[in-house]
Amino acid sequence: MAEPLLAVRGVTTFYGSIMALKGVDLDVAEGEIVTLIGANGAGKSTLMMTICGNPRAREGRIVFDGRDITQLPTHEIARLRIAQSPEGRRIFGRMTVLENLQMGLVAAGRDADPGELDRVLAFFPRLAERIGQRGGTLSGGEQQMLAIARALMSKPRLLLLDEPSLGLAPLIAQAIFDIVKELNRSRGLTVFLVEQNAFHALKLAHRAYVMVNGTITMTGSGRELLERPEVKAAYLEGG
Ligand code: ATP
Repeated sequence: MAEPLLAVRGVTTFYGSIMALKGVDLDVAEGEIVTLIGANGAGKSTLMMTICGNPRAREGRIVFDGRDITQLPTHEIARLRIAQSPEGRRIFGRMTVLENLQMGLVAAGRDADPGELDRVLAFFPRLAERIGQRGGTLSGGEQQMLAIARALMSKPRLLLLDEPSLGLAPLIAQAIFDIVKELNRSRGLTVFLVEQNAFHALKLAHRAYVMVNGTITMTGSGRELLERPEVKAAYLEGG
């Protein structure tokens, strides 16, 4: 089997004396959408942040494109074109949409391509219409679009998306998932998606993992996991 683009091997992460990740193994191949689902506090965000180098893994290895990035500083990890759209979006409320997007170029450093703006905006006509508007005046769904668009500005090889549907009405969340699917289909974008909205996330995913208490407990295709009784009981029915 070809080397995965991202390989997480036996990773443990601590907050002080609390072990939040307990030996996580996970792969993301080029061109895949891989989803990680799990309850509140399972450690999903911690894994995403550990991939970005903060907090740092205490044990195990994180390999990106054949290179061990476990001990790299976060800005060097970003330079490898791993882009993150964090939980809570963290857009700059007083800056315009355009300025927020330009911040996304900073991560790319010397490789920044200003021409990327038009390509990104083609996926987000709503943002194009609001290009001069302040980020803080956008709706929740538009702010989520802006967070994703900003991450795309550095032409990521791997896009990490943390809870993009959080706090959004179902139709708006669906629109966000549709955009992610289209980015993957038309641009071959590789996506690692962390979600509590298990149904949509599993439908979207080529492959998926379930995390419980800092450990991966199940893996399979998104479709397989959707059908598993344990997944249905814990994450789909009434939740
Ligand atoms: P959520 O969906 O709520 O974001 P999650 O699956 O992403 O949940 P994490 O946020 O990664 O879970 O949290 C994993 C565990 O680590 C939880 O027990 C949480 O309380 C703890 N934790 C997270 N951040 C910190 C921190 N900065 N300091 C101490 N403990 C933390």
